[in-house]
Amino acid sequence: MKAFNSIFLFLGLSSLTFAAAPTGRYKTIHDQMKALEAGHPQVAKVFSIGTNDDGVELYALRISTAPQEMDKSKIGQLMVATHHGNEGGSTQLAMEFSKDLVRRYESKALWKENLNQMEFTILPVLNVSGYNNNARHEHGQDPNRDYPGPCTPNGWGKLKSIRSLISFVETRSFAGSVTAHGYVGNVTYPWGFYTDNNKSFDNNKYHEIFRKVAEVNSYSYGNSGDAIYPANGCYEDFIYWKHGSWSLLLELLNGSQSDVADTVPAMAKFYDLIDSTPSAKNQFEANCTNHRGPNLRIE
Ligand SMILES: [Zn+2]
Repeated sequence: MKAFNSIFLFLGLSSLTFAAAPTGRYKTIHDQMKALEAGHPQVAKVFSIGTNDDGVELYALRISTAPQEMDKSKIGQLMVATHHGNEGGSTQLAMEFSKDLVRRYESKALWKENLNQMEFTILPVLNVSGYNNNARHEHGQDPNRDYPGPCTPNGWGKLKSIRSLISFVETRSFAGSVTAHGYVGNVTYPWGFYTDNNKSFDNNKYHEIFRKVAEVNSYSYGNSGDAIYPANGCYEDFIYWKHGSWSLLLELLNGSQSDVADTVPAMAKFYDLIDSTPSAKNQFEANCTNHRGPNLRIE
């Protein structure tokens, strides 16, 4: 038994030793996250959702009235930024949204709009090596084409970062999800893949919510397949199709400081307007269609 215990202890220590520390631009963001946690430990906590192919932890902020542990009785809200490493404006949006959220949790706003009932998880950088190298892809793959969907049942999850996120979103329910990209200047909703009917059963409801969100920062809005070109295997369709989360694809206009500052309250508006539970009408029952020609979507 002693020998077995020693082996397990050794393996445990080894896995700790092999976790790669944040480096480069990612370290700067991780440092900012830790500083936010250190300044506001009652409402902010840094934790890892899992690792990527390089053994680097993917750090997220949990912001709630009890951030130390996940509380599944609260309304889950998710924000994922930097699928594409060359869209640094999305990273800034996630950080500025986090800071504003902390400010609201520590103000009277906490008692408005169900904020005190919500638990936010914010992942500023999903594609770490891409972010450090200012590159769209991660290990030669487009991370936002690596998800399962109704028209892409096979071949997904080539990247460990994506598999980690897919596993994480199974750990609790998320009423809402924002995924941040650049640079178009719009907010869009599912479906965005190749189909003969991209109107979901929630299309009218999405349209009404997004009209009000887009008013805040004067972006355009609509169905993502119509507004940006279709693409298969995207996160924003996956999270709605698989989990019913009300899904917003944000394309920042240019990622400038003022663009980010104008967009933070628009995202707050989205989380405020959606239902407190995921959609139950997220089934896809139209037909998949084949994509021909060049991939025109660089979102
Ligand atoms: Zn992108």
